[in-house]
Amino acid sequence: MRILVKGAGVAGLTVAHELYARGAEVTVFETSRNFSRAASWLAGGMLAPWCERESADAAVLERGRDAADRWEAILPGRIVRNGTLVLAPNRDRQELRRFADRTTGYRWVDEHEIATLEPSLAGRFRHGLFFPQEAHLNPREVLHSLRDDLSAKGVIFADGIADDGEFADIVDCTGAARIRLSRELRGVRGEMLYLQTQEIALSRPVRLLHPRFPVYIVPRGDGLFMVGATMIETEFGGAITARSLMELLNAAYALHPAFADAAVVETGAGVRPAFPDNLPRVMQEGKTILINGLYRHGFLLAPAMAAEAASLIFSRYDSNRNRPCA
Ligand SMILES: Cc1cc2nc3c(=O)[nH]c(=O)nc-3n(C[C@H](O)[C@H](O)[C@H](O)COP(=O)(O)OP(=O)(O)OC[C@H]3O[C@@H](n4cnc5c(N)ncnc54)[C@H](O)[C@@H]3O)c2cc1C
Repeated sequence: MRILVKGAGVAGLTVAHELYARGAEVTVFETSRNFSRAASWLAGGMLAPWCERESADAAVLERGRDAADRWEAILPGRIVRNGTLVLAPNRDRQELRRFADRTTGYRWVDEHEIATLEPSLAGRFRHGLFFPQEAHLNPREVLHSLRDDLSAKGVIFADGIADDGEFADIVDCTGAARIRLSRELRGVRGEMLYLQTQEIALSRPVRLLHPRFPVYIVPRGDGLFMVGATMIETEFGGAITARSLMELLNAAYALHPAFADAAVVETGAGVRPAFPDNLPRVMQEGKTILINGLYRHGFLLAPAMAAEAASLIFSRYDSNRNRPCA
């Protein structure tokens, strides 16, 4: 059974992994090198379904609650399971209450526990919410590791021209590239930056609530921090704007003033493909299965969507095999 996967972002790589694991012969076709056009490259890597429930449908929590287990099965040892800390400036405590009202799976933490969880933040915040079941991963490490792992197992990675006719099935995971082909898909721009400083150490994602501009900071180790992300209703993928850069830097500074002296080592902007309900879909068009609309939950939900797509493909084979002869 030969299957072509188009797109090597998180959706493409996880479905390639799932199809290979179920015994298919898989080729992955990607038009750009080194993930340079993948939204996945810019992601925070938070597996945070309880926090996301603040603004997301209940289905995101249902489908995403076992994401860390799914990733652990795909790439053992790459998932950090030490929760998410949600904070707000002391004057904005109502933002924490509002967040708490819309979520579950947390406990309130005081200044003392915040300092125990994140010593660098000692004395800076009086109250917070701690979501102990959440996890995170480093998207760039995961994308490289998964591609290398699949390649070592015999999955072919092609970057020339793919001939669809050679394959029994095609799985389209081309993300934002499908926006122009689909009336329902839209783009939601996410801008982010990387800061580097040895003055602060964090061990888990920290979200800073703000009425106008909530942000998160995800530690990558060695003093590197990913700061994200804007949510702008446009499919424009160009460079980060001065306004967004200022807002992200202001928020990082509000979390800890030592970020003022950090080096800005990278900025970027990606386009999150989204359907009107902001939920991802597995769809079928002829012999093509599409996985798209992962919105801000690509790492959280891609393993579950990959399993759903693989089941759909294999069920077609099973029903063809069981069909009585005419
Ligand atoms: C700033 C930011 C932060 C985020 N943080 C998180 C987070 O913390 N947690 C989380 O779960 N999600 C997060 N997301 C969302 C997540 O990144 C996306 O949902 C996810 O990357 C979408 O994955 P994808 O594989 O569908 O698309 P992409 O990663 O965009 O991959 C699509 C690939 O298809 C390729 N392609 C395009 N056209 C073709 C073609 N014709 N043939 C072959 N290949 C093609 C592209 O080059 C690209 O490599 C974040 C997103 C952004 C922008």
